[in-house]
Amino acid sequence: MGKRGLLYEGKAKKVYETDDPDLLIVSYKDDATAFDGQKKGTIVGKGAINNRMTNHIFKLLEKRGVPTHLVEELSDRETLVKKVEIVPLEVIIRNVCAGSFAKKLGMEEGIRLACPTLEFSYKNDDLHDPFINDYYALALNLATREEIDAITKYAFLVNEVMMEYFAGLGIDLIDFKIEFGRYHGQVILADEVSPDTCRLWDSETHEKLDKDRFRRDLGNVEDAYEEVFRRLGISG
Ligand code: ADP
Ligand code: UDP
Repeated sequence: MGKRGLLYEGKAKKVYETDDPDLLIVSYKDDATAFDGQKKGTIVGKGAINNRMTNHIFKLLEKRGVPTHLVEELSDRETLVKKVEIVPLEVIIRNVCAGSFAKKLGMEEGIRLACPTLEFSYKNDDLHDPFINDYYALALNLATREEIDAITKYAFLVNEVMMEYFAGLGIDLIDFKIEFGRYHGQVILADEVSPDTCRLWDSETHEKLDKDRFRRDLGNVEDAYEEVFRRLGISG
């Protein structure tokens, strides 16, 4: 598939057009940002790990009935995907209290929630991705009721599949963020699933194996990404 012009350069990925108007190539970078882009850095090897991990997880999710944008892994860092119209909602699922949830509710990190919970942020950098609910999403025409229902159903299914899968690798899935897009009238899972977008804690030691090591200057950032990758058993 021929690569055409750069469509978009984000904080973690570059997105290229291809000869096929329905397909894009995403290219994962080692660049890392946090706190609304205020903190910038590099996590060496992250691009390849996030690319290959996302594709591995997306294949697993497809088997369990979640449609995704994945078409074909092209190289360590590049993947051919279906070009979607991104639904401007960051969909966050939480199993254990951490991050902004812990801060907002004055709770300690690490407390397991009585049941998984879902929240939406309006994906808008100028507004710093504010927290909204489904009524806001409807009122702002960000998505239809049918789309929100499909997104909610898929998001909880993604959580079930990933929780079970990571548990088998000795990893607790604390929380994660996913994005969905519209493709020929259907809502499908897009973007990525990686240590950039998930909180992953070692089940035994509770060591953080995700981007919080970068956000919070905990050290051994690359080691954490490599450890997750190693446990996936695809590092070959
Ligand atoms: P950001 O935009 O937050 O800096 P990235 O650096 O990850 O994030 O950039 C990738 C961009 O591509 C994101 O805005 C994401 O919503 C978008 N995207 C991901 N998958 C697709 C897809 N299949 N089709 C179109 N856009 C996509
Ligand atoms: N997250 C993300 N991108 C964002 C915001 C959050 O991938 O722009 C992920 C984050 O890695 C975590 C989950 O979503 O796994 C919940 O993040 P939270 O709301 O606690 O925000 P944070 O503490 O990261 O600011």
